[in-house]
Amino acid sequence: MNEFEFIERLRSQANSRKHSTRILTGIGDDAAIISESAGRDLLVTTDLLIEDVDFHRRTTPARLLGYKSLAVSLSDIAAMGGRPFWSFLSIGLPRDGWSSNFKDEFYEGFFALADQFGVTLAGGDVSETKSGIVIDSIVLGEVASGAAVKRSGARPGDQIYVTGNLGGAAAGLKLIEIGARLSEPPAVAGGLSSVSRAAESTSNERSDDDAIQTLLLRQLRPQPRVGWGIVLGEQKLASAMIDLSDGLSSDLNHLCKESHAGALIDAAAMPLDEDVKRLCGRRALDPLALALHGGEDFELLFAVAPENVPRLPKKVDGVAISLLGEITHTKGSIRIREKHREWDLQPGGFEHFASET
Ligand code: ADP
Ligand code: MG
Repeated sequence: MNEFEFIERLRSQANSRKHSTRILTGIGDDAAIISESAGRDLLVTTDLLIEDVDFHRRTTPARLLGYKSLAVSLSDIAAMGGRPFWSFLSIGLPRDGWSSNFKDEFYEGFFALADQFGVTLAGGDVSETKSGIVIDSIVLGEVASGAAVKRSGARPGDQIYVTGNLGGAAAGLKLIEIGARLSEPPAVAGGLSSVSRAAESTSNERSDDDAIQTLLLRQLRPQPRVGWGIVLGEQKLASAMIDLSDGLSSDLNHLCKESHAGALIDAAAMPLDEDVKRLCGRRALDPLALALHGGEDFELLFAVAPENVPRLPKKVDGVAISLLGEITHTKGSIRIREKHREWDLQPGGFEHFASET
């Protein structure tokens, strides 16, 4: 298949499921045409995924890579309190990636997630690389004018919440590093329900292997909290928000810095991943450290003014939230408390180009 046949096929795949009536022209011209809507602000986010930096081909099924490439960008739109609508996905592939069924499986995973949230593939680009896969994922979304939730809106006294539970994705990465692999071809359709079902079953009816498989999927098939993002944005519940891509200690730091504030959180309130707790003793994983510093959980961390707390829903799409602590006056100081002890929470999350220590 040549490049143009490939694009034609993507075009018909995208058109057969066109979710947005506002795409006047999608794939097939020099640019996409999207009709603007009054009273809304446009959100645009981009993410770059580089082979051997952001993922390894050996350990990442192509379907899940397609899924995750979109998931990370949907998570950014959710973190702004917006609704995702359109995706532009560009891919650079080495020759062997082109000739194998890598690209077919990649787009299978991509479309499975896109369909779940009604996101339309509206364009992209394809190129050959000398080595390694490069993916550039762009998602456009919308929010009511002025309603986007920024990192900078938190005020002292605001309550700090997080969706879901933490540490699972980092534990999954550690499991991959020590050789754990998915036992069966992973499902991409209905991913959300299968993950929450697994997470809801009580720990004694689950085997260690179930726990390992769930953690691998937390890393390889993250669930963007699109539903929570829309609720928090549209109902004006959150004063500030960020998605947890680098790790809570780093991302809370970013939020506080932009808000010119500090934070005090409670270690006992951290929603530790049950599977991490289950496996930790035996595999030298500290659940609290993974929850605080582990990246890629793609949960939403947000601040809520006290008067809005009573309006918070308990769950959205079956996902609960936890109250972690409070925004404080002490600019730049992120503190964590455990019983009578209190200390500075140093950002320990992932960083590209971090200096070696
Ligand atoms: P140009 O050289 O003008 O950029 P291309 O042949 O690269 O033209 O693109 C033609 C059309 O195909 C555009 O609408 C572009 O968005 C779309 N397209 C190209 N690659 C992809 C891709 N990987 N996914 C989705 N659409 C694509
Ligand atoms: Mg092009």
